[in-house]
Amino acid sequence: MTSMAAAPQAAQQTTFESLDPATGAVVANFPVHTADDVRRAVERARPAAAWWRELGFDGRKTRLRAWRSIIASRLDEFAELIHRENGKPVFDAIGELSIAVEHLDWASGAAAKVLGRRRVGSGLLAMNQSASVEYLPYGVVGVIGPWNYPVHTPMGSISYALAAGNAVVFKPSEFTPAIGKWLVDAFAEVVPEQPVLQLVTGFGATGNALCTAGVGKLAFTGSTATGKKVMAACAPTLTPVVIECGGKDALIVAADADLEAAVDAAVWGALSNAGQTCAGVERVYAVASVYDEFVAGVTREAAKVRGGADAGADYGPITMPGQVEVIRQHIDDAIADGGRAVVGSPDSVQAPFVQPVVLLDVPEHSVAVQEETFGPTITIAKVRDEDEAIELANASRYGLGAAVFSAKGGRAIAERLSCGCVSINSAISFAMVPELPFGGVGDSGFGRIHGADGLREFAWPRSVTSVRFPAPLKVTTFKHPKSARVLVTRLVKARWGRGRS
Ligand code: NDP
Repeated sequence: MTSMAAAPQAAQQTTFESLDPATGAVVANFPVHTADDVRRAVERARPAAAWWRELGFDGRKTRLRAWRSIIASRLDEFAELIHRENGKPVFDAIGELSIAVEHLDWASGAAAKVLGRRRVGSGLLAMNQSASVEYLPYGVVGVIGPWNYPVHTPMGSISYALAAGNAVVFKPSEFTPAIGKWLVDAFAEVVPEQPVLQLVTGFGATGNALCTAGVGKLAFTGSTATGKKVMAACAPTLTPVVIECGGKDALIVAADADLEAAVDAAVWGALSNAGQTCAGVERVYAVASVYDEFVAGVTREAAKVRGGADAGADYGPITMPGQVEVIRQHIDDAIADGGRAVVGSPDSVQAPFVQPVVLLDVPEHSVAVQEETFGPTITIAKVRDEDEAIELANASRYGLGAAVFSAKGGRAIAERLSCGCVSINSAISFAMVPELPFGGVGDSGFGRIHGADGLREFAWPRSVTSVRFPAPLKVTTFKHPKSARVLVTRLVKARWGRGRS
């Protein structure tokens, strides 16, 4: 990858600078860790993982909550750093941190209940035995994070992996390494004994090295294309992966929608964080009866939103310089395909900033509708009815999130959407709820972060049975009585052979 921050990547390059995307000022300098460096970090993490696991759920909870308190008490300092290195406004950085600490707190508190040993029913055939299951940490988990939510997104894996008892080696994006270092340094203040959470920095090759360094599991967030490379790198060692890629999330406006709320959610969902949100709103399908009023509302409200570096700006620059060209291309293609901009134009792209662009009449085959734009743009299409809206929303290779606006039919529409998360009468709310699993289907990836599923993602189940008393009818032996065959046959027929339901 080439970038302003990561300048031409010479093979012998040993350090790189991270830059303020708004000004180009140097934020920090970091080593490019080699494959050997990464392997050594994973080796150091192994005894640390064993030590961390021995602390138990309560011991880990105490440390993780101390870490949470450090992040919360230094919110302003951390938010300033996020503003400088990622570019987002300080208020947005505070919002991101507030969600991250909620997740950290929930994961640390829920781990014992979700992962600790619990009895399960043993069923008729093993009625003489007790049965239990517990979830054990993988050991060392590798986390490869993105730059768009440089705390909230990787912490969706890191918090849950640590709460489950794993050590973590974290490779942040080359665009946001100082933010990653802040997190790791703060963790070391509450866990000074062992390198339970380590940082490795560099480019894609460093991330690739983490996949092959002997980690027990790899959690990746980023593009679908790189997600496939990560899976391929993990395949030879059967290293399990959780892959959280982007989306092309749709917002559906039904005939009975609260239009003011729908307009507000569409504008915020599409433009906040300069549209650099994996579950951001990229497409809107509004039914014909409310389309004109909805478009008028979005046009009015989106025109008031402004990207910039000053304190009054609603969102910041495009963090990854290369993304600006992708956004420009999508706008150009949409217009070339017959679309029209009612807010903004191709001139709205003024690197490193992109001002809001609202596009109408863009054909469904256009890249602006098919591919993830990851910029402050939105397409709005008029549809006949809710059925057509659902059909078009589902006609995407992605399936991360969606939003539905309807007074009465929100749940019925949500149930027909092929995606991992849906917000009814709001946008992206599911990401704020620690108990809800987050992730997608199709090209949006698989596996889940957050919630009980997110904790189980970083642990493997061990099932145990234990004999409590001799079996009345022992079938798992060559020494079973001759009558066993008759008895078992009768039993199965009596239990399951009658009726059809
Ligand atoms: P990438 O998928 O290339 O990068 C994501 C992370 O993976 C970064 O830490 C990156 O490191 C690392 N990486 C890159 N190559 C490899 C590799 N071969 N093996 C292991 N790790 C690797 O995304 P980009 O940052 O290039 O963004 C491109 C597009 O991805 C965006 O336009 C957007 O559509 C999507 N995206 C989605 C995100 C989401 O939240 N789902 C987040 C970010 C991007 P490094 O940065 O050092 O190259």
